[in-house]
Amino acid sequence: MISIAIDGPAGAGKSTIARRVAQKLGYLYVDTGALYRAIALHMLRAGKNPASPEEVIPQLEAVEVSLRYVEGEQQVLLGAENVSESIRTPEVAAAASKVSAIPRVREFLLSLQRDIAEQNDVVMDGRDIGTVVLPHAQVKIFLTASLEERARRRWKELLEKGSADFGTVLADVKKRDEQDSTRAIAPLAQAADAVLVDTTGITLEQSVDRMLAVIRERLS
Ligand code: C5P
Repeated sequence: MISIAIDGPAGAGKSTIARRVAQKLGYLYVDTGALYRAIALHMLRAGKNPASPEEVIPQLEAVEVSLRYVEGEQQVLLGAENVSESIRTPEVAAAASKVSAIPRVREFLLSLQRDIAEQNDVVMDGRDIGTVVLPHAQVKIFLTASLEERARRRWKELLEKGSADFGTVLADVKKRDEQDSTRAIAPLAQAADAVLVDTTGITLEQSVDRMLAVIRERLS
């Protein structure tokens, strides 16, 4: 099986770009952030503090998170409920960044992610895919863009759904970067053998082409 690992900070365009790249290659696209978001949603609904290991860990037993593919599109389920839409809020994103710093949460999701990659050719995106989840991935890419550009993209996405304040989005993205990069376990980091792709100032199509070029070169 072939694994393409894509890591990078919030708002780098990972999910959009990785999804397109997976389509072009005919591989399964796996968005691992959705798993952390689903756990965060469960904790918020249960009234638990997502930053507290004491409150979060006992709850994990009650969490049934799974992925399903419908016409090639990933859906994330909590029990039988499709939460793919409900997890796309700034509150859930912030809580996901908190629960993801708890080692037991990361362990809880590890085998799920590895099992998918054992059974399918995948383009998997996250923060620790090339470093921890799939250290033997044939291709590793670290996808980034400047903080301002990433915040601007997130802001535009949120504006499409309703109102959003750029300053708040910028502060949120910055905070999440800091939390994700400085946590003790599986911090956001570029793997030593990952290729850096910076999408600042280039279009989505150009980013996809650049990624495909890197992948084809590495696989050849
Ligand atoms: O990529 P997305 O914004 O959906 O991720 C939400 C949060 O989940 C991230 O801020 C990060 O804290 C966490 N995450 C992680 N490891 C991954 C994917 C996401 O810690 N592989």
